[in-house]
Amino acid sequence: MKITFCGANREVTGSCYHIETSRGNIVLDCGMFQGGKYAEDKNAQNFPFDPTGVDAVVVTHAHFDHVGRLPKLYKDGFRGKLWGTAPTSELTMINLRDAVHLVEEEAERHNHAPLFTPDDVTPLEDAWKVIPYHQETEIIPGVRIFLTDAGHILGSASVKVVADGESVVFSGDLGNTPVPLLRNAECLYGADAVIIESTYGNRVHEGGDQRTEFLRQAILDTVKNKGVLIVPAFALERTQELLYELNFLHSTGKIPNLPIFLDSPLAIAATEVFRQNVDFFNPEAKQDLLKYGDLFSFPGLRYTVSSDESKHILNVPGPKVVIAGSGMMNGGRILHHLMNYLEQSNTTVLIIGYQVECSLGRRLHDGEREVHIYGHPIHTKADIRSCGAFSGHADYPRLMHWMHCFAEKPPKRVFVTHGELNSALSFSQSVEDELSISSGVPEYAERVDISTLNAAS
Ligand SMILES: [Zn+2]
Repeated sequence: MKITFCGANREVTGSCYHIETSRGNIVLDCGMFQGGKYAEDKNAQNFPFDPTGVDAVVVTHAHFDHVGRLPKLYKDGFRGKLWGTAPTSELTMINLRDAVHLVEEEAERHNHAPLFTPDDVTPLEDAWKVIPYHQETEIIPGVRIFLTDAGHILGSASVKVVADGESVVFSGDLGNTPVPLLRNAECLYGADAVIIESTYGNRVHEGGDQRTEFLRQAILDTVKNKGVLIVPAFALERTQELLYELNFLHSTGKIPNLPIFLDSPLAIAATEVFRQNVDFFNPEAKQDLLKYGDLFSFPGLRYTVSSDESKHILNVPGPKVVIAGSGMMNGGRILHHLMNYLEQSNTTVLIIGYQVECSLGRRLHDGEREVHIYGHPIHTKADIRSCGAFSGHADYPRLMHWMHCFAEKPPKRVFVTHGELNSALSFSQSVEDELSISSGVPEYAERVDISTLNAAS
């Protein structure tokens, strides 16, 4: 087996791997690079492989940095099947359908051809082959895959690929286990090589118990100063976890009744997918489902689908909470709310997810106060808070815990991806130090031959 690293190398976004076997070629994930002009240019480049020669694609999960270039792959000639869990297939399609308009708008703004059009998204609907966790499946003759729960978003998977008598494990994105709705990330065992993410390979998150208190405090402060709490949230998973926690806080009387707007058509559509796939929830969430009936609805919560409904939020006096996308504040309805409220000192912005370099979210997170939105200068007076406990990604101890699953029969080599350079290098070093396994941080377009790896290298 030969693997070419085609994205998320020494950075977080753009996940994509090309896997050559003697029986055919597959791609694992095909994500968008995110974060400014540099990312846009990289997305427009040709893949470092021939898309017409790809026989199948395996998708670990539906986040845009793992699926966003699937329509481009189709446009460039790929005609095979897409393999993943049921929630991954459903969430991917709503994500791509939602993105088409953004991609077209962006192309118009920058006066270039769009990366893809609806004609490149629609054919993918029928390309899906849905498979469960824990069932070895032959996706092309001689190439088998095995999925386990990665605990990162609904339906997310780690994947073992077996071909030519070799096996490689891809961690996908690993969850911040335990989290409210999902099951814990599972172990995989025995592989010639392991490819692991490292978004937070060099940090330790606050404890999970702190997240509910952090959220409660932000709401109580907002109530006290009659302000607005703005939560930029990733539409898939972060939003549903947030709704679940708000439901809990509300039903246990820990927060007062106040208007809470879910202002994201994508998040609203994704929430429906969650309602249809409760089998993927953890046992506690299933119990709560019996108790509350609907985990994503409670008094005060309003779903705003149309843009008129969205604009009306401005007329509702504080205190109020607005949850909107995008999670990294680099597009979507969140920008309108930030434009309206960032300059007010009784506004709180709650950052609950990874903010890619160059995004507005990253600049605010890093303390910049003078920012521009749609070309307008904004002097930020809002209180910007962030809490790593809400992260959907495993931190250093969790990543290392997952790696320890391989301790008994160690892989010949570990490849650390999906992390900024410092984080990836630091985690790679830890793998060598703690587990005595050879490890490295591959570069974009680097190609490795698994058959030539040797345990002592
Ligand atoms: Zn992800």
